[in-house]
Amino acid sequence: MSSHRTFHLLIGGNLVPGETCFDVINPATEAVLGRAPDATRAQLDAAVAAARKAFPAWKATPIAERQAKVAAMGEAIAAHMDELKRLLTAEQGKPLGDAEGDVGAAPYFCGLAAQLTPPVEVHEDSEERLSATYHVPLGVVCAISPWNFPVADAFWKVAPALVAGNAVILKPSPFTPLTTLRIGELVRDTLPAGVLNILSGQDELGPWMTAHPGIDKVAFTGSTATGRRVMESAAATLKRLTLELGGNDAAIVLPGIDVEATAAKVFQAAFTNSGQVCFAAKRIYVHDDVYEPFAAALVELGKQAKVGDGTEQGTTFGPIQNRQQYGRVMDLIEDSRANGYKFLLGEDVEVPEKGYFIPPTIIDNPPETSRIVQEEQFGPVLPLLRFDDIEAVLQKANDSEYGLGGSVWGPPDQAEAIAHRLDTGMVWVNEFGSLAHSQPFGGRKQSGYGVANGMPGLLEFTTPHTIVTSRKVASA
Ligand code: NAD
Repeated sequence: MSSHRTFHLLIGGNLVPGETCFDVINPATEAVLGRAPDATRAQLDAAVAAARKAFPAWKATPIAERQAKVAAMGEAIAAHMDELKRLLTAEQGKPLGDAEGDVGAAPYFCGLAAQLTPPVEVHEDSEERLSATYHVPLGVVCAISPWNFPVADAFWKVAPALVAGNAVILKPSPFTPLTTLRIGELVRDTLPAGVLNILSGQDELGPWMTAHPGIDKVAFTGSTATGRRVMESAAATLKRLTLELGGNDAAIVLPGIDVEATAAKVFQAAFTNSGQVCFAAKRIYVHDDVYEPFAAALVELGKQAKVGDGTEQGTTFGPIQNRQQYGRVMDLIEDSRANGYKFLLGEDVEVPEKGYFIPPTIIDNPPETSRIVQEEQFGPVLPLLRFDDIEAVLQKANDSEYGLGGSVWGPPDQAEAIAHRLDTGMVWVNEFGSLAHSQPFGGRKQSGYGVANGMPGLLEFTTPHTIVTSRKVASA
């Protein structure tokens, strides 16, 4: 008998046990933290049926009421912050303060979505006719979230999808399902039954969902490789898609900066969440004139970092979230070592007995063609690259299948001019990661498809419905 507490699926407003469950591991200790239900195909069918049943009434609910219920859902999450952030640190690994930010993003996104009303666009309002476009919900949306920001990313999708009038089936990553399942218990009374369903499962569940004929849209965050599979699977029923995928974001550091202050910001851009951020700075191009002092400042910051269990006071970076990703990052470090690249920090990492810990690691000017430059590392190992020709560096920055974000650090006019030439969805200049609530978030090229956040993100959960009414026909 397992001593772990039981988590449930949320289907049609009911908490449903799994017929079988799978282990969820604490990445700091490698101990089993809990067991999550492994949803069956029949349970997916039941969730789709419940969502389809709930959809017409939810769609017909006045938007002000939907907004109020979504805001109430956010408040229910905020009211249990302490419990939820501890559970999230235990399953994801991030320090408690960061976990609070991740969980706190849910009420924040619910509050933002609750202020958004899709516009009615009037094309013609004349004696002849009224022509107007309404933005109506799509039906049943499936939201698939990753393990790096399990709660924030989920509710970034769920909140606007619900406000727009859809019913939702949320699937967390099998590596981090527990906080999301617990949230299901906490919020289920804030919404009508079936409007939000939550299913955890293993590798088969995602593909079942993206192929399911009863699902109208997939809002997906994850790797580019999986994004391709989602798109392929969605083709069978022409599902609508929003894909937030991987990135290999370049940061370009120009001369004429305050080295210490900029290094501190770039360090955060690269290593926050142990580098497991889709739009983290993943390759840093530093101008020759400032390369040495900039590198020295980054190394100093790396030495001050405290890598450890996220529950311990003073921990700045937690473990890598799962064994698979730990292996991937260690493989990139090993490849750099085998190729004789110089490490400025972190070469002789002691492998801990337990836990997927990797301290900040910095590699000194590896070749542009190296794996650590070309691949998305999604972990705390960072290539620093020296440049002296801005045209050449722009070409390198843009020579990637990815196009998610990027940053430029330097004298403002010069830096902004360079920002305009980066082929990415977002570029930050002399700051990193800010996301105004009306700012569309999305990748170019193979970093994504569609956008999230603000009104542009809300409209992705709708479809245009244009009605043209003649005013020339008299009624009988
Ligand atoms: P992943 O692609 O392995 O998994 C993401 C989710 O998809 C999980 O819930 C998983 O269970 C599910 N899934 C896996 N295979 C599936 C399939 N065939 N069909 C449907 N669903 C499937 O990604 P991950 O390892 O959890 O996350 C890391 C990746 O996510 C990185 O590449 C990162 O850059 C990217 N990411 C992107 C953004 C963004 O907004 N662009 C944000 C966070 C993470």
